[in-house]
Amino acid sequence: MTGKLVIVAGPSGSGKTTIVRHLLGVYPRLAFSISAASRKKREGEVDGEDYYFLSVEKFKEKIEKGDFLEWEEVYPGSYYGTMRTEVERLWNAGRDVIFDIDVKGAMNLKKHYPEQAITIFIQPPSLETLAQRLQKRKTETPEFFAQRIQKAAEEISYSSKFDKLIQNSDLEKAFKEAEGVVGEFLKVEK
Ligand code: 5GP
Repeated sequence: MTGKLVIVAGPSGSGKTTIVRHLLGVYPRLAFSISAASRKKREGEVDGEDYYFLSVEKFKEKIEKGDFLEWEEVYPGSYYGTMRTEVERLWNAGRDVIFDIDVKGAMNLKKHYPEQAITIFIQPPSLETLAQRLQKRKTETPEFFAQRIQKAAEEISYSSKFDKLIQNSDLEKAFKEAEGVVGEFLKVEK
């Protein structure tokens, strides 16, 4: 059984996770694709809910076995990937799948499923705003913070490759816009 893929990407701090959560609340047929990740679990995160947390060794083993639909070393030493079994599990349950992944992963998934997928890029108002949001979030050490800002600039340069761009300067507006785009794609009412 297959279904649709709603692939959401955008820089860390763009609000994409908040928008994905909102969409999950609005469209019950959507289910979140839980990625595998080799980074450390943050406070409050739950293994098997936010991510399947794996060691780097285990992650590499899975790469070798061909378990991933796509994977990226998103930050040096931190691997993230979408497992085939995860997407199959959700499709078999009759759901469409929503992804919160990086820009390269988004492009790769779309290549696998060109007909069934929509890619949505969440655009932050500016790099300055992004930096302020990340600073407020305080989840990163200074070193990781710098990495995330650099990565954000790189990610923004990919935005033109996406099917839809959503500007997130006002979260309520971004919610409405995302609801419209996804509702149209899934062809369902809220
Ligand atoms: P974070 O560490 O903040 O949870 O996520 C870091 C980045 O990795 C985010 O841009 C997130 O969307 C991305 N990411 C999460 N899961 C995956 C995945 O399965 N594949 C890819 N390519 N990127 C992912």
